[in-house]
Amino acid sequence: MSISNLYTPLIASIALIFLLSCGAGKQGDASRADTDPSGAPETESTLFCADSAYSYVQRQVDFGPRVPGNEAHAACGDWLAETLRAAGAEVTVQTATLTGFDGASIPMRNIFARLNPDADERVLLLAHWDSRPWADHDPDPAKHSSPIDGANDGASGAGVLLEIARIAKEAGIAKGIDILLCDAEDRGTENNDESWAMGTRYFAANLPEKGYMPSAAILLDMVGAPDATFMREYFSQRSNPALADEIWAIAHSLGYAGNFPNRMGSAVNDDHVELIKAGIPAIDIIDYREGEGFFSGWHTTADNMDAISKETLEKVGRVIETYLKK
Ligand SMILES: [Zn+2]
Repeated sequence: MSISNLYTPLIASIALIFLLSCGAGKQGDASRADTDPSGAPETESTLFCADSAYSYVQRQVDFGPRVPGNEAHAACGDWLAETLRAAGAEVTVQTATLTGFDGASIPMRNIFARLNPDADERVLLLAHWDSRPWADHDPDPAKHSSPIDGANDGASGAGVLLEIARIAKEAGIAKGIDILLCDAEDRGTENNDESWAMGTRYFAANLPEKGYMPSAAILLDMVGAPDATFMREYFSQRSNPALADEIWAIAHSLGYAGNFPNRMGSAVNDDHVELIKAGIPAIDIIDYREGEGFFSGWHTTADNMDAISKETLEKVGRVIETYLKK
């Protein structure tokens, strides 16, 4: 993803109406199998397991950088689809050969999983699973052409969604859940918006069915770093402010206001923009820090497992689980 050129400081001054309409609790008596890595007292009944989500991130990274066309990408894609099937999802795979901004041929594979396939109300959750082929923001110029592990930038979002799929049935989620693990997000170049989010652009042009319209669409991107800061993102706010209000209200009700400040961050050209362009309202939960930008390991070789916090994965996962139960 990249910062959109459309962003102007004016946007930051937009006043937000924060509706604390979403209560925190009454989610049932399901007990959690894990312990809270933060050591904080358990306040919510959620099944989302930080250790499990972390292991899903680790497993992706263990394949190696998942660059479309390489062996790790092929093997990881197989594993993602299999893991979603094992969770009880109906999985379909979209494949296409796309052309990158540099003329390269990109074997793209979107993995689409449906839980509760017969439910009329459907929530679309998405995250990209490819990793960037170049560490072009690495402080060491010698590493600029090296691929990255993409532990946070890619694997974290997919890991959280795999964990959501694993617990969905036991958590009693009645809504239909559509999970899109989109490919070829992170092969873009600066000042070329079309060079990013290629997998989701393809999905938006080839929807699962005519008139496909989820009741909500939520993108997770870079949801694993310590001290992650999920500010309100501009295109999300413009597209579906009510959904953003609801998600941030849930986060605050769970005690995560520090990670989910209710302020405008930036305008990020990310997968959700491709859905919005196709008429599907969508929001992005993305780590963007005031005065800093993306996390320090963004597009560097430091985006490895050392950049992943179980606590952050858990917070995001619990927010999503709580939302799905409503
Ligand atoms: Zn990226």
